[in-house]
Amino acid sequence: MTNTALVVVDVQRDFCEGGALAAANTMSLLQPLKGFVEAARRQGILVVYTQDWHPENHSSFKANGGPWPVHCVAGQAGSELMPPLMAESGDVVIHKGVAVQGAGYSGFDETELEQKLRENGVRRVGVAGVATEYCVRATALDAQRAKFETTVLTDLIRAVQDADVPKVLEELRGSGVKLEPAQDWLTRSR
Ligand SMILES: [Zn+2]
Repeated sequence: MTNTALVVVDVQRDFCEGGALAAANTMSLLQPLKGFVEAARRQGILVVYTQDWHPENHSSFKANGGPWPVHCVAGQAGSELMPPLMAESGDVVIHKGVAVQGAGYSGFDETELEQKLRENGVRRVGVAGVATEYCVRATALDAQRAKFETTVLTDLIRAVQDADVPKVLEELRGSGVKLEPAQDWLTRSR
């Protein structure tokens, strides 16, 4: 095992095209991301999937005063990993947004993610997935705050609003997060 983890954020049915709260252009993400996950595994990188995993009465849903349509209700179809992605034995799966309160954007927010990374000797984290300006952003910022060497893999993320991406990437860069194409990061991870 290397000291490196690939964190795949929220690539779930509801966040992909046709889902309740879809990011844009996810169909062009899925096959490249699947191939990249497999390449990372072959290289001994720890693969982590985060999944938004809400109770039916979650505070982020419009019916409960929140900003979002109902999405990623725990155990329902919309919360499943989007095929062809799938978790294999040895991967880590993190459920977030499990409590009624709290948006749960970050994979580190009230989860065991940091502990799992530490247990596995991880010091470097690559972040991919959706949505760039919400859960990818929050997860990358928290990884950097937790002193992991954090890189957002710029070709393996998708946003809800593409217009917001430049300022989000600038914020990430300003916080010390690296921005790099996935293959370059993987090559440096050898
Ligand atoms: Zn959510």
